[in-house]
Amino acid sequence: MAIVVNPFTEEHQLLRDSFRKFIEKEITPNVETWEKNKECPRHIFEKMGQQGFFGVSFPTEVGGSGMDLWSAVVIAEELAYANIGGLGMSLYAHTYLPLPLINAVGSDVQKKKYLVPALKGEKVSALGLTEPGAGSDLSGISTTAVDNGDHYLVNGSKMYITNGTMADFVVTLVRHGEGYNMSFLIIDTNTPGFSANKMDWKLGMHTSDTGHLFFDNVVVPKENLIGQQGMGFYYAMNNLQEERLIGAVTGAFAAEAALEKAKRYAKEREAFGRPIGKFQVIRHKIAQMAIKAEACKAFAFHAVQEFIERGAEAVKVISMAKAFTSEVAMEVVDAALQIHGGAGYMEEYGIARSWRDLRLLTIGAGTTEVMHEVISKIVMDEVQHRNIVIKARKGDAVSA
Ligand SMILES: Cc1cc2nc3c(=O)[nH]c(=O)nc-3n(C[C@H](O)[C@H](O)[C@H](O)COP(=O)(O)OP(=O)(O)OC[C@H]3O[C@@H](n4cnc5c(N)ncnc54)[C@H](O)[C@@H]3O)c2cc1C
Repeated sequence: MAIVVNPFTEEHQLLRDSFRKFIEKEITPNVETWEKNKECPRHIFEKMGQQGFFGVSFPTEVGGSGMDLWSAVVIAEELAYANIGGLGMSLYAHTYLPLPLINAVGSDVQKKKYLVPALKGEKVSALGLTEPGAGSDLSGISTTAVDNGDHYLVNGSKMYITNGTMADFVVTLVRHGEGYNMSFLIIDTNTPGFSANKMDWKLGMHTSDTGHLFFDNVVVPKENLIGQQGMGFYYAMNNLQEERLIGAVTGAFAAEAALEKAKRYAKEREAFGRPIGKFQVIRHKIAQMAIKAEACKAFAFHAVQEFIERGAEAVKVISMAKAFTSEVAMEVVDAALQIHGGAGYMEEYGIARSWRDLRLLTIGAGTTEVMHEVISKIVMDEVQHRNIVIKARKGDAVSA
């Protein structure tokens, strides 16, 4: 287990410089217009792909740059500082939700037809897990795929799907029978029987596209099955680790960025004849925010390193980092809004946007409560492995 201090190399720095320039030119000048119009700009996908920003951590054989996962952290950091949570989420929902699965267990044909053009920004992708009747409990999904010889017939619906109405294909979790008999299918959105409605009446993430998808006798060729039939649920559990990791990293940087804004404002804004940052209450609030932001970053980086070393087996640390950073980063952003006073509630400082966008992080990619379930199961088992005897007192929740 390695504790990471500074994981970034010169190559990462070059990537950071070029991506920062890209954001300054293509994204920053348009943030407020897109936010007001609730617009997810598709041309940004094309430009990101053309410049190779989607593929930084994917292998060169599929058109990526073959860098390590820290390159994805660089991208997440710059997007967090750009403070356009919705677009950031849409971009990483494209890159780090469906595509790692195709890369890991997809066929060569699938990689050529879907992964390569997606990394080039020519195709937009989405991941369809959640349904109206099943979110946290994915074992309860009811979208079915009936085996019809050379194809599957898919019926059902998916809800809250990022990039849902703009995607060219959706990597969709479907059920074949009882229990965990599920698979992932790549479904082209131009297939007859597929339709999608926008769900744009939402708290934040206004520059992301959220869709309610419907599958009405959609014919999906067998070659669009990802990996082995019946393994979908297990693939989903593995694949979620990368999504949670990027979530943790994004939360940590959102906290850091909000802290920077709060410090600046506390130095500028005057009340009772002095900058508000001269009041001890505000200074101490900033100190607490700094502690929390630092802890979020350290935890998120630790989880990234664990993932690099142990893959999806690092589930405990990743779940902890996701639960911790999403909750604690929200406390930091909330405190930053408070320090901005009325200005924080208005749009001009961007802190209101950070607040409403970040609020999703304790819900998406596995809620905090679900993370606690995952962690508690592992942690309770660890107690047994190490043979530690805990003397239970009456009323204790944990005993061994
Ligand atoms: C903007 C947005 C974008 C999204 N993008 C995608 C996407 O691209 N793809 C996709 O598949 N999904 C997506 N989602 C869905 C998201 O992953 C789910 O909303 C999330 O997993 C929670 O599921 P749910 O909404 O059904 O809540 P529920 O599962 O109904 O949970 C409701 C409450 O009950 C709690 N709860 C549930 N089970 C337990 C338990 N065992 N113990 C204690 N508490 C529990 C939850 O923590 C939560 O507080 C998105 C959601 C939003 C809002």
